[in-house]
Amino acid sequence: MHLNDSETVHDLVGIGFGPANLSVAIALEESGHPLRAVFLDRKPAFAWHPGLMFAGAEMQVSFTKDLITMRNPRSRFSFLNYLAEQGPDRLAKFINLRTFYPTRVEFNDYYAWAAARFDDQVRWGTDVTEVSAVPGEDGVELLRVSLRDLAGGETGSVLTRNLILAPGGTPHVPEGVELGARVFHASETLERLERTFDDPSAPYHFNIVGSGQTSADVFTHLRRSYPQARITTNVRGFAMRPEDDTHFVNELFLPDFPDWFHGQDDDFRRRIIDGYALAAHTGVSYDLIPRIYREYYEDMVSGGKALSLRRFTELVAARSEPDRAVATYLHLDSGETSRTEADAVVLATGYRYPMPVPALAGLGAYLRMETPERYAIRRDYSVACVEEFAPRVFLQGFAEATHGFSEVLLSLMPVRAAEIVEALAKNASVQTR
Ligand SMILES: Cc1cc2nc3c(=O)[nH]c(=O)nc-3n(C[C@H](O)[C@H](O)[C@H](O)COP(=O)(O)OP(=O)(O)OC[C@H]3O[C@@H](n4cnc5c(N)ncnc54)[C@H](O)[C@@H]3O)c2cc1C
Repeated sequence: MHLNDSETVHDLVGIGFGPANLSVAIALEESGHPLRAVFLDRKPAFAWHPGLMFAGAEMQVSFTKDLITMRNPRSRFSFLNYLAEQGPDRLAKFINLRTFYPTRVEFNDYYAWAAARFDDQVRWGTDVTEVSAVPGEDGVELLRVSLRDLAGGETGSVLTRNLILAPGGTPHVPEGVELGARVFHASETLERLERTFDDPSAPYHFNIVGSGQTSADVFTHLRRSYPQARITTNVRGFAMRPEDDTHFVNELFLPDFPDWFHGQDDDFRRRIIDGYALAAHTGVSYDLIPRIYREYYEDMVSGGKALSLRRFTELVAARSEPDRAVATYLHLDSGETSRTEADAVVLATGYRYPMPVPALAGLGAYLRMETPERYAIRRDYSVACVEEFAPRVFLQGFAEATHGFSEVLLSLMPVRAAEIVEALAKNASVQTR
């Protein structure tokens, strides 16, 4: 695809090519619809959360929640088919592992294998900067998607009848924090460590902020990679809590759940989201917690004092200086603040899906908001719009409030992708082209 192609009108442009839009590419191919789709991603090549790709970290969902099995267990895009294609023993040996939970490193390789099947539809290293409406005789018929090639810096644009956004979450940085080489979001952990903390035997002092899965993963990685380091974990509550993937709760991820959830009123949906947060966001893998606790215990027994957990502690300010990170914490129990100097502060503070989406600012007059912070997202994941606006704008990841927890997780991606493709194929702009 050329960077500046004002002749071709695509049926679909996808922003981002992580697992969500990769699922859409698969659903499109398997549907047999002859839609002309192109996907744009700012990364130079496929990489799933590269800053958190710690050796040994495991998936939090079964491999059967791959890109396709939940919808089409016979598909060639399944994780098992990936294994089968990796050489004679790989599938048999994976089966012999007797686990449902491959490592993230292996799953990333599986995703990259699947993504490579769509090389002709993806333009990597391409940042989408803006989307604007192209007015026609009967209102808006097309969208112009503005791009920048990140390697060369050239800009351009493409035209499309429909858009799917799957840009992933935006790393959340608490107020008062100035990012820098020594104060960084956990999503950048591996590259920051490699750049600034290259001595595995140094007695660095790391601060981790947060109590969820990422905090636990970063702790485990730091402990393993820097055995002499001090690690202070700061949590707002009393302690990290286990994720809830018990059987009945996990039915939040059955394929027909979004249908039922979407039909409920806002207050009721809110109660479910608040009540079951441990099923999706805040919980740590059950078997990781005792392993971390053992690290603390062994540190205490050895008199090392390398590990500390500060409870009811909230980060209120942090900045990166050339030789240290300086952080201020509020202790919620005493009301006092304290100042800490460390070698680095790692923010395991999660992700947000901010709305309105900055890249869609130019469509503000056409897309309906349900509240000032949230688009009106239809059951088929398209944003409700004004009448004289023909393009469909689909969102993935943004509809937790109306479609449930599966929005930001892997479980139902294949099902959602197929629903979007079905809606797309019904869109008049595609049928009459
Ligand atoms: C470390 C980690 C592990 C996880 N493990 C699990 C798990 O085990 N089970 C589970 O259910 N969920 C898990 N999740 C949550 C969720 O499944 C993932 O976040 C998933 O990657 C979401 O897929 P996505 O395609 O929506 O977004 P992403 O994977 O974030 O992909 C978005 C893509 O969009 C691109 N992009 C963004 N903006 C632009 C732009 N303007 N222009 C061009 N490209 C752009 C990015 O470069 C990126 O490649 C995990 C999350 C993390 C962070």
